[in-house]
Amino acid sequence: MRGTQQISDPRFIKLVIWGAKGVGKSALIVRFLTRRFIGEYLSGREITYQHEVNLSGEWITAEICDALPCTSLHKHLSTMTSHPDAYVIVYSVSERESFEYACSLMRDVRRCYNELQDEKVIPFVLVGNKSDLDHLREVSYVEGAEASETVTACSFAEASAAESFPETEELFKGVFRLAKTNNILTAR
Ligand code: GDP
Ligand code: MG
Repeated sequence: MRGTQQISDPRFIKLVIWGAKGVGKSALIVRFLTRRFIGEYLSGREITYQHEVNLSGEWITAEICDALPCTSLHKHLSTMTSHPDAYVIVYSVSERESFEYACSLMRDVRRCYNELQDEKVIPFVLVGNKSDLDHLREVSYVEGAEASETVTACSFAEASAAESFPETEELFKGVFRLAKTNNILTAR
C-alpha cells in the first residue's frame, strides 16, 4: 500500500468511481472522455480508462476506474497495487436508496483505510447525478451537501451526465486538482 513515506507522482492521478448500479457512473465517465452522452452503456465489468488531461496548462495522466458496485471493499482495497488518489462516489438525486448506499460506501471506505492504518487521507467527492430529473427528485441538494460534511476531506457537487458537458468536465478537473494538491502535500 502507498503510505505517506512514498513520493507519488503528482502528474499521475488515479480515480475510482463508485456507487450503486444505474446512478450514471459510466455515463459521467463517458461524457467526460468523449463529450457525448451515451444513454445505454452496459459493460458488466470493471473498466479502467487512461486519459491525458490539461489542467490549466499542465498535462496530467488520469486513470479512471469505473468500479462495479458489488465489489467487496476489503478485497478491492487489499488487491490494489496502489491506492487511488481520489474517490468519486455517485448517487442519483432521483433515487434515495442510491444516496443511502453512497453514504454507507463513504463511511466504509474511510473505515477500511483506518483499519489498514494508511495515514494518507484520500479526498472524496460525493456527486448527486441526474440533476436534470428535478421533477423526480428524492434527494435535495442540501442533504447531499450535508452528507459530504460528515466525512473527512469530502466535497460535493450535483451533475447531469445527460445534459451538461462543461459541468461534468469541471467536476472531473476539480477532482484531479484536489488529488494533485493532496499528493503534493502528503509526499512532503
Ligand atoms: P452506472 O450503472 O452507474 O454505470 O449507470 P449508467 O451510466 O449505465 O446509467 C444508468 C442509466 O441512467 C442509463 O439509462 C443512463 O442513460 C441514465 N443516466 C445516466 N446519467 C444520467 C443523467 O445525468 N440524467 C438522466 N436523466 N439519466 C442518466
Ligand atoms: Mg456502469
